[in-house]
Amino acid sequence: MPELPEVEVTRRRLGPILVGRTIERVETTGDSYFFLTKPEALKRRLTGRTVTELNRHGKYLLAELDDGHRLLLHLGMTGQLFSSAVSSVRLFSAKTRGSLPPEALREFKADAHTHLSLHFRDGGPSVLFRDVRKFGKVLLLEAGAHDPRLDKLGVDALSATGKDLFDAARARRIPIKTLLLDQGVIAGIGNIYADEALFLAKVRPGRSARRVTARQCDAIVAATKRVMKRSIATGGSSISDYVSPDGSDGGYQDERKVYARKGLPCPVCSTPIRRVVIATRSTHYCPECQL
Ligand SMILES: [Zn+2]
Repeated sequence: MPELPEVEVTRRRLGPILVGRTIERVETTGDSYFFLTKPEALKRRLTGRTVTELNRHGKYLLAELDDGHRLLLHLGMTGQLFSSAVSSVRLFSAKTRGSLPPEALREFKADAHTHLSLHFRDGGPSVLFRDVRKFGKVLLLEAGAHDPRLDKLGVDALSATGKDLFDAARARRIPIKTLLLDQGVIAGIGNIYADEALFLAKVRPGRSARRVTARQCDAIVAATKRVMKRSIATGGSSISDYVSPDGSDGGYQDERKVYARKGLPCPVCSTPIRRVVIATRSTHYCPECQL
């Protein structure tokens, strides 16, 4: 599942191929829960618009348009936003790949899973939103309109401070990891990064939030930013169907210290990493290093 770093990598790579370009034509698949704004309305209102900025809050991408409207995009579980000029073999199943001539791999043509295609007036590469499992979302927000999805989000993880976490943690009896995953407190922290940050901050994920000190909150938020920035720098985690907009694979997964390392030695003290379930999420920690 794409987490904040993957969405930020998508924003940085997609921005240059989206901003400043005028949409000439919009293609979609049929109406479904994927479209929070009906395909017909999307086509009508996006045609002729120029994208002025591509922003991100938590895991939402927001394309700002020249009429003040905003196009909200969420990658869901398997969403892929990329230029039609990419040539990533990861976009195809092994079976499909084998049956295609090499030239077909050079440019991606919209398939049944490509739910939104933006074609531009300049005739350059299109921007495609493909999503095999279809948990992604597309919504056109009117100028000045509020949306509960955005309104309920806390401060973005990359600009959060230890105080943001400490203020939310003080009176809470829930595990600190549960609080870290609460998008209303800090937006954009997913399961992998919560585990990795708690390991670096030496705080046990199951510790009651109100028993985490201000200094530990500072350490947790600093560690969160560190692992996320490192992940952004390496192109995001190469998990699931995530593919960056230029078609390359992410490279962060080799650096994980605890996540998905149950039974393997802790990189600091060699104690086997333990796995528990907190708030229905698979959680990994070192029972020696984290208190
Ligand atoms: Zn350890």
